Amino acid sequence: MSKMAACIFCKIVKGDIPSFKLFESERIFAFLDIQPLSKGHALVVPKHHGSKLTDIPDDALAEILPVVKKIAAASGAENYNVLQNNGRLAHQEVDHVHFHMIPKPNETEGLGIGWPATPTDMEALKKLHADIKAKM
Ligand code: 5GP
Ligand code: ZN
Repeated sequence: MSKMAACIFCKIVKGDIPSFKLFESERIFAFLDIQPLSKGHALVVPKHHGSKLTDIPDDALAEILPVVKKIAAASGAENYNVLQNNGRLAHQEVDHVHFHMIPKPNETEGLGIGWPATPTDMEALKKLHADIKAKM
């Protein structure tokens, strides 16, 4: 079976698995997360199957954030996180690109974030900046 045929989000996009659909266009599909971190937790996906952000065509990606914005506004959430995980270590469980819109109503519900900031190192940043720019 191909990765696409086995993909749970491809099945949701096709309607083979039911979902609480919030939005659909030629290239985009959005629905409620089945195990929400908070009330209103939604997922926005490109119909194009790809596991990571770098696998998705720009035209599909360009249409995603306006849909995330529409759902964030409709949710009424004052505080919310937009999250897109890539790879197992980065907490991706479903290998079809998806953007989470997660309302943050209080300290306990919604996304909990670990933010292990490190001290500023200007020399390291300067070198890294040059390395990345050279590959863009
Ligand atoms: P990830 O950890 O890959 O970024 O997030 C995957 C998300 O997909 C999880 O929040 C999970 O609850 C959601 N999810 C997994 N399977 C289904 C499903 O069959 N239906 C819906 N609506 N959401 C799902
Ligand atoms: Zn898929």
